[in-house]
Amino acid sequence: MLICPLCKREVDNFHKRSHLVPEWMYTDCYNGNHKVLEVSRSEEKVTKKQKGVYCSFICDSCEKDTQKYDRYASLILTNRSPETDKFKSIKRTYYKKNNGDDKSEFGLGEHIDFKKFQNFIFAVILRTHFAGRIKGPISLNPKHLN
Ligand SMILES: [Zn+2]
Repeated sequence: MLICPLCKREVDNFHKRSHLVPEWMYTDCYNGNHKVLEVSRSEEKVTKKQKGVYCSFICDSCEKDTQKYDRYASLILTNRSPETDKFKSIKRTYYKKNNGDDKSEFGLGEHIDFKKFQNFIFAVILRTHFAGRIKGPISLNPKHLN
């Protein structure tokens, strides 16, 4: 019997492939063969990944819940589904700044469902924490988790 660190329920198995960061967020990192390099300083190794970084550490129910927020973020942050109501509901304004060599671009998104977007950010942080991928002083302490 396992205890899901997110919902604290007892489960027989954890979800087999929970992404720490949603797979769609790797899109710009993949090479032509749809692979990205994962560099581990602690293990001193480099690994090719084809589907992002995932582990088995939360229950199926929590995986399903967090995927809802991943999906929302993918609809508002990417151009993958431009015909969806959620994509169309966001007013996007893009700005460019050119100060000599400092060429930066940024955008402003309006009408974002802040609660859903906040839950997306929380889910990424919690999954990364519960997967044991963050160690040392930047890891979440019990006060942060509560
Ligand atoms: Zn759970």
